[in-house]
Amino acid sequence: MTGWDELDRFLRTDPRDVGCDEALRLLHVYVDLILDVGGDEAARRYPGVAAHLVACGPCEEDLQGLLFAAQMNAPPESEEDVR
Ligand SMILES: [Zn+2]
Repeated sequence: MTGWDELDRFLRTDPRDVGCDEALRLLHVYVDLILDVGGDEAARRYPGVAAHLVACGPCEEDLQGLLFAAQMNAPPESEEDVR
């Protein structure tokens, strides 16, 4: 009965969900982790944040925005210490 599980997950907050305040507080750390070790590992280290981002559209959008900004700001490896 996976349909019920999905409905249940939709109706009920994930118990691991840390909530908006905590997720936003950790968001920059989480973004660094995604860029550093990848999204899977980031989700493993912060399951509460990952659970919240799945459940909360606005926070997920904030994550995408931060990820985008971080990638814009990160210089390509080749520009590092060319001197
Ligand atoms: Zn949220």
